Amino acid sequence: MPKARTPVVAVVPGSFDPITYGHVDIIERAAGLYDRVVVGVLLNESKEGLFRPDERVAMIRRIVGRNRRIEVRAFDGLLVRFARECGARVIVRGIRAVSDYEYELQMALMNRRLEPGIDTVFLLPKEEYSFLSSRLVKEVCRLGGDVTGLVPPAVLTALKSRLRDGAATPKKRQSPAR
Ligand code: ADP
Repeated sequence: MPKARTPVVAVVPGSFDPITYGHVDIIERAAGLYDRVVVGVLLNESKEGLFRPDERVAMIRRIVGRNRRIEVRAFDGLLVRFARECGARVIVRGIRAVSDYEYELQMALMNRRLEPGIDTVFLLPKEEYSFLSSRLVKEVCRLGGDVTGLVPPAVLTALKSRLRDGAATPKKRQSPAR
Protein backbone atom coordinates (compact mmCIF):
# COMPACT_ATOMS: atom_id res chain seq x y z
CA MET A 1 0.00 0.00 0.00
CA PRO A 2 1.39 3.47 -0.82
CA LYS A 3 2.53 5.51 2.15
CA ALA A 4 0.00 8.17 3.23
CA ARG A 5 1.06 11.68 2.31
CA THR A 6 1.85 13.98 5.21
CA PRO A 7 -0.74 16.76 5.29
CA VAL A 8 0.73 20.12 4.36
CA VAL A 9 -0.03 22.86 6.86
CA ALA A 10 0.23 26.56 5.91
CA VAL A 11 0.27 29.55 8.21
CA VAL A 12 -1.28 32.84 7.04
CA PRO A 13 0.05 35.48 9.42
CA GLY A 14 -0.88 39.12 9.81
CA SER A 15 -2.36 41.83 11.96
CA PHE A 16 -5.87 41.62 10.47
CA ASP A 17 -6.91 44.89 12.11
CA PRO A 18 -9.55 44.24 10.83
CA ILE A 19 -9.87 41.42 8.30
CA THR A 20 -10.81 42.63 4.79
CA TYR A 21 -11.99 40.78 1.70
CA GLY A 22 -8.36 40.93 0.52
CA HIS A 23 -7.34 38.79 3.51
CA VAL A 24 -10.35 36.49 3.04
CA ASP A 25 -9.34 36.00 -0.59
CA ILE A 26 -5.79 34.98 0.37
CA ILE A 27 -6.92 32.71 3.24
CA GLU A 28 -9.42 30.91 1.00
CA ARG A 29 -6.89 30.50 -1.79
CA ALA A 30 -4.47 28.98 0.74
CA ALA A 31 -7.21 26.63 1.97
CA GLY A 32 -7.71 25.49 -1.61
CA LEU A 33 -4.03 24.64 -1.95
CA TYR A 34 -3.06 23.17 1.42
CA ASP A 35 -4.53 20.53 3.71
CA ARG A 36 -4.80 22.81 6.70
CA VAL A 37 -4.47 26.55 7.16
CA VAL A 38 -3.71 28.30 10.42
CA VAL A 39 -4.51 32.01 10.37
CA GLY A 40 -2.05 33.59 12.82
CA VAL A 41 -3.12 36.88 14.37
CA LEU A 42 -0.03 38.72 15.50
CA LEU A 43 -0.12 40.16 19.02
CA ASN A 44 1.89 43.29 18.53
CA GLU A 45 2.53 44.92 21.87
CA SER A 46 4.16 47.97 20.30
CA LYS A 47 1.32 48.67 17.87
CA GLU A 48 -2.08 49.15 19.43
CA GLY A 49 -4.79 48.30 16.94
CA LEU A 50 -8.35 49.46 16.48
CA PHE A 51 -9.53 46.02 17.56
CA ARG A 52 -8.12 43.91 20.37
CA PRO A 53 -6.46 40.68 19.21
CA ASP A 54 -9.24 38.57 20.75
CA GLU A 55 -11.80 40.61 18.80
CA ARG A 56 -9.85 40.07 15.58
CA VAL A 57 -9.61 36.34 16.22
CA ALA A 58 -13.37 36.13 16.89
CA MET A 59 -14.18 38.12 13.72
CA ILE A 60 -11.95 35.94 11.54
CA ARG A 61 -13.46 32.77 13.03
CA ARG A 62 -16.94 34.01 12.21
CA ILE A 63 -15.93 34.73 8.64
CA VAL A 64 -13.77 31.77 7.63
CA GLY A 65 -14.23 29.34 10.53
CA ARG A 66 -16.94 27.33 8.78
CA ASN A 67 -14.25 25.87 6.56
CA ARG A 68 -12.95 22.94 8.61
CA ARG A 69 -9.49 23.26 7.09
CA ILE A 70 -9.07 26.71 8.59
CA GLU A 71 -8.08 27.39 12.17
CA VAL A 72 -7.50 30.82 13.75
CA ARG A 73 -4.96 31.44 16.49
CA ALA A 74 -3.25 34.43 18.05
CA PHE A 75 0.53 34.38 18.38
CA ASP A 76 3.42 36.52 19.48
CA GLY A 77 7.14 36.35 19.00
CA LEU A 78 8.88 34.88 15.99
CA LEU A 79 6.66 33.84 13.11
CA VAL A 80 8.83 30.84 12.25
CA ARG A 81 8.54 29.60 15.83
CA PHE A 82 4.75 29.83 15.60
CA ALA A 83 4.80 28.12 12.19
CA ARG A 84 6.94 25.31 13.62
CA GLU A 85 4.51 24.89 16.55
CA CYS A 86 1.69 24.56 14.02
CA GLY A 87 3.65 21.92 12.10
CA ALA A 88 3.61 24.22 9.05
CA ARG A 89 5.88 23.84 6.03
CA VAL A 90 4.56 26.94 4.34
CA ILE A 91 4.00 30.59 5.23
CA VAL A 92 1.51 32.28 2.91
CA ARG A 93 1.62 36.03 2.31
CA GLY A 94 -0.51 38.12 0.01
CA ILE A 95 1.11 40.49 -2.43
CA ARG A 96 -0.82 43.51 -3.62
CA ALA A 97 1.49 45.83 -5.51
CA VAL A 98 5.20 45.90 -6.24
CA SER A 99 5.48 48.07 -3.12
CA ASP A 100 4.67 45.02 -0.94
CA TYR A 101 7.37 42.98 -2.59
CA GLU A 102 10.54 44.46 -1.13
CA TYR A 103 9.41 44.14 2.48
CA GLU A 104 7.99 40.68 1.86
CA LEU A 105 11.20 39.54 0.19
CA GLN A 106 13.27 40.65 3.20
CA MET A 107 10.94 38.88 5.61
CA ALA A 108 10.80 35.71 3.54
CA LEU A 109 14.58 35.46 3.22
CA MET A 110 15.09 36.16 6.92
CA ASN A 111 12.49 33.55 7.84
CA ARG A 112 14.16 31.00 5.57
CA ARG A 113 17.48 31.72 7.21
CA LEU A 114 15.91 31.18 10.63
CA GLU A 115 14.01 28.07 9.54
CA PRO A 116 15.19 26.51 6.27
CA GLY A 117 12.44 23.88 6.42
CA ILE A 118 9.68 26.43 5.95
CA ASP A 119 9.06 28.20 2.65
CA THR A 120 7.16 31.43 2.03
CA VAL A 121 4.63 31.36 -0.77
CA PHE A 122 3.16 34.56 -2.23
CA LEU A 123 -0.39 34.61 -3.51
CA LEU A 124 -2.16 37.31 -5.51
CA PRO A 125 -5.67 38.39 -4.59
CA LYS A 126 -8.45 39.13 -7.05
CA GLU A 127 -7.59 42.35 -8.87
CA GLU A 128 -10.39 44.26 -7.20
CA TYR A 129 -8.76 43.71 -3.82
CA SER A 130 -5.24 44.53 -4.88
CA PHE A 131 -5.46 48.11 -3.60
CA LEU A 132 -7.13 47.16 -0.35
CA SER A 133 -5.55 47.41 3.10
CA SER A 134 -6.89 47.44 6.65
CA ARG A 135 -5.29 50.85 7.13
CA LEU A 136 -7.12 52.35 4.14
CA VAL A 137 -10.44 50.83 5.17
CA LYS A 138 -10.08 52.32 8.69
CA GLU A 139 -9.13 55.70 7.30
CA VAL A 140 -12.02 55.87 4.84
CA CYS A 141 -14.52 54.60 7.40
CA ARG A 142 -13.28 57.06 10.00
CA LEU A 143 -13.91 59.88 7.53
CA GLY A 144 -17.44 58.63 6.87
CA GLY A 145 -16.75 56.93 3.51
CA ASP A 146 -18.56 53.77 2.47
CA VAL A 147 -16.46 50.60 2.61
CA THR A 148 -19.30 48.20 1.82
CA GLY A 149 -18.02 45.37 -0.36
CA LEU A 150 -14.46 45.73 0.92
CA VAL A 151 -14.99 44.05 4.30
CA PRO A 152 -17.48 41.37 5.39
CA PRO A 153 -20.77 42.74 6.80
CA ALA A 154 -19.89 41.80 10.41
CA VAL A 155 -16.63 43.75 10.11
CA LEU A 156 -18.43 46.73 8.65
CA THR A 157 -20.79 46.79 11.63
CA ALA A 158 -17.91 46.46 14.09
CA LEU A 159 -15.94 49.20 12.32
CA LYS A 160 -18.84 51.62 12.35
CA SER A 161 -19.62 51.06 15.99
CA ARG A 162 -15.96 51.30 17.08
CA LEU A 163 -15.33 54.43 15.06
CA ARG A 164 -18.65 55.99 16.03
CA ASP A 165 -17.73 55.42 19.69
CA GLY A 166 -14.70 57.56 18.92
CA ALA A 167 -12.59 54.79 20.40
CA ALA A 168 -9.47 54.73 18.31
CA THR A 169 -7.96 52.14 20.61
CA PRO A 170 -9.30 48.98 22.21
CA LYS A 171 -10.86 49.47 25.60
CA LYS A 172 -9.62 46.65 27.67
CA ARG A 173 -6.93 44.13 27.12
CA GLN A 174 -7.89 40.50 27.40
CA SER A 175 -5.97 37.34 26.96
CA PRO A 176 -6.23 36.28 23.31
CA ALA A 177 -8.63 33.53 22.38
CA ARG A 178 -6.66 30.61 21.07
P1 ADP B 1 0.79 43.12 8.08
O1 ADP B 1 1.31 41.78 8.43
O2 ADP B 1 1.70 43.93 7.19
O3 ADP B 1 0.16 43.90 9.20
P2 ADP B 1 -1.86 42.54 7.29
O4 ADP B 1 -2.17 42.02 8.59
O5 ADP B 1 -2.69 43.67 6.80
O6 ADP B 1 -0.37 42.84 7.04
O7 ADP B 1 -2.02 41.39 6.22
C1 ADP B 1 -1.59 40.08 6.39
C2 ADP B 1 -1.32 39.48 5.04
O8 ADP B 1 -2.38 39.72 4.17
C3 ADP B 1 -0.07 40.08 4.37
O9 ADP B 1 0.53 39.05 3.63
C4 ADP B 1 -0.63 41.11 3.46
O10 ADP B 1 0.22 41.35 2.36
C5 ADP B 1 -1.90 40.39 3.02
N1 ADP B 1 -2.91 41.30 2.55
C6 ADP B 1 -3.50 42.31 3.19
N2 ADP B 1 -4.42 42.92 2.43
C7 ADP B 1 -4.38 42.26 1.24
C8 ADP B 1 -5.05 42.40 0.00
N3 ADP B 1 -5.94 43.36 -0.20
N4 ADP B 1 -4.75 41.55 -0.98
C9 ADP B 1 -3.81 40.60 -0.80
N5 ADP B 1 -3.14 40.41 0.32
C10 ADP B 1 -3.41 41.23 1.32
